Amino acid sequence: MSEKYMNFIGGEWVAASTGKWFENRNPADRTDLVGLFADGDARDVEAAVAAAARGFETWRLLPAPKRAEIVLRAGERLVERKEAFARDMTREMGKILDETRGDVQEAIDTAFYAAGEGRRMFGDTVPVELPDKFGMSVRCPVGVFAIVTPWNFPMAIPSWKIFPALVCGNTVVFKPASDTPLSAVNFVRTLADAGVPPGVVNLVTGGGRAVGSPLVEHPRVRGVSFTGSTEVGRTIAEGAGKRLKRCSLELGGKNAQLVLEDADLDLAVDGAVWGAFATAGQRCTATSRAIVHERVISTFTERLVARVERLKLGPGLDPGTEMGPLVNEGQLKTVEHYVRVGLDEGATRITGGERPGGGAFEKGWFYEPTVFTNVRPDMRIAQEEIFGPVLSVLRCGSLEEGLAILNGTAYGLSSSIYTRDVSKAFRAVREIEAGIVYVNGPTIGAEVQLPFGGVKDTGNGHREAGRAVLDVFTEWKSVYVDYSGRLQRAQIDSRKEA
Ligand code: NAP
Ligand code: MG
Repeated sequence: MSEKYMNFIGGEWVAASTGKWFENRNPADRTDLVGLFADGDARDVEAAVAAAARGFETWRLLPAPKRAEIVLRAGERLVERKEAFARDMTREMGKILDETRGDVQEAIDTAFYAAGEGRRMFGDTVPVELPDKFGMSVRCPVGVFAIVTPWNFPMAIPSWKIFPALVCGNTVVFKPASDTPLSAVNFVRTLADAGVPPGVVNLVTGGGRAVGSPLVEHPRVRGVSFTGSTEVGRTIAEGAGKRLKRCSLELGGKNAQLVLEDADLDLAVDGAVWGAFATAGQRCTATSRAIVHERVISTFTERLVARVERLKLGPGLDPGTEMGPLVNEGQLKTVEHYVRVGLDEGATRITGGERPGGGAFEKGWFYEPTVFTNVRPDMRIAQEEIFGPVLSVLRCGSLEEGLAILNGTAYGLSSSIYTRDVSKAFRAVREIEAGIVYVNGPTIGAEVQLPFGGVKDTGNGHREAGRAVLDVFTEWKSVYVDYSGRLQRAQIDSRKEA
């Protein structure tokens, strides 16, 4: 009998209204059942939203520094539990231990950073045009937030949303991806242990349609923070638009690394291998295109392939493994589909492109790290998000052409340029249409103190992390205090006196 994990509503762990459970299996070994999780529906959402609405009445009145202390304590507990949570995470979604440790570390960093905002959360105090009058702006909580997250960063992404949401005085109902409910349970338990009062954080697990959809559409949910696919994000934004609901979306990417002729090629290859094949390419910021100057493309490709062919594939819990499996069968089929599309379009597969054969690989969703050359910018493998270990190498003849190719997709999340020429680097920083630009570094590796998010189809204009995330989780209130004891008319009396 394997362990059952429940929903967390109003401070209690409760089974789903359906009485049903769904399985969570290890993608490196399908015979390994991680656990059974509450298979919720709209009734659980209803109960969780009601609990969050009740929780909001007192949580919003707790001074922000006190709310922040609880978040800080949660961060401290994550430090103690980091290794155990990293192992759980690798077991449920596949990425290697170094990376799941990094995922928990990102949540710790976010806790500590967000906790500092409890004593900042700056507004403006400004001069006003009339005598004996005072003007300032303050940040106010929004209310109940729906938090809907993907499986590729099972603790980091929820932490980017939930920690600042709480410090700002909101309460949340959290619907994690169905592939990673254990990391969500670990995260919510940690918050409860740190002293978050009942109703402030609620967890409902279950399907996107059964739980996610009624949650984001619930009239008492005042804000939605979603990370996931562009397709689902668009649907959520449509619903939120009709209800004039606040909605922050972090969506897909088709990130490129531009390598100019003067680049340090070994450095560029290191960056491409890490950027394209970490998390088996299942990162929103993964490098899925390398755009390389024609003078260095053959050397770059040769060194790249040599490195890729040495990558050690295996279960993420095994020491020495450099790339784990894909998260599930659906993701594996998507990757296989795109590899066929690439071949049909006339691209050249120079390494990978198969499921690895034999032994332990048969039990999991493994796929070889794959590189395509002779890729044209208009091919589907150069335009669409694959979300797997597939890198396309494209040719360019100049910085300008490289930038045009880099910008020539629907997305705009992360990007990178390798060059030793500072003028070209700064020109690229100006011209690149993306939320994140790295110079001489790979497309992955964001830190929590700077804004995270993208342009075009990657989102709808919001940013997470850094100070920018406060704009998602607060409303502005402008406050005027007139201590003159008489009626003063802005724009009218001030003109007369001048
Ligand atoms: P997804 O299918 O969009 O799922 C994301 C979340 O939304 C999951 O919790 C999912 O639940 C839920 N969901 C599905 N359908 C829903 C609906 N109709 N209404 C409300 N919620 C719904 O994305 P994914 O395949 O898990 O994740 C991969 C995608 O996320 C990629 O496109 C990637 O680029 C993007 N991503 C973006 C960022 C970023 O910051 N820009 C970061 C990481 C990932 P179930 O799991 O139960 O289906
Ligand atoms: Mg799983």
